[in-house]
Amino acid sequence: MLRGALLFLWELPQNILGLLVLGLERGAGTVKEIRIEHDRMVIQSTRNAVSLGYFVFWSEGVNRYFILDDLTREHEIGHSFQSRLLGPLYLPLVGVPSVLHVLYAMAYREVTGRRWTGYFDTYPESWADRLGGVAERRAERKAKQQAK
Ligand SMILES: [Zn+2]
Repeated sequence: MLRGALLFLWELPQNILGLLVLGLERGAGTVKEIRIEHDRMVIQSTRNAVSLGYFVFWSEGVNRYFILDDLTREHEIGHSFQSRLLGPLYLPLVGVPSVLHVLYAMAYREVTGRRWTGYFDTYPESWADRLGGVAERRAERKAKQQAK
């Protein structure tokens, strides 16, 4: 209990954001399923894939900018390990570069007309893949894609 409370405080900035996103998701009716795993609330959403401290959102699907496949869930759980490690530094060291890469991916799509395939090769995404145990599967998929 005390450990849980201390951990919640250690990750407070991302926990506050996570709680906010959960409220928005609840309001919009986009939560599909909630499970507790790794002492985390793992939330399947119809629209978000973002890891915010205790609250780990994942979704599958294709949008204009990204293909969120079945590795997304473990990838986001990988981010939650970064959050536990970095505490208050998670948002500046992981959140900010991730958001910048998302913006880059959006700009890339609009300028070139193609999806950017380098997203998961960047820091901190490749690290999250490793922590989530999906780095090898992602690399295999990418190699197959490029062989086509
Ligand atoms: Zn990520």
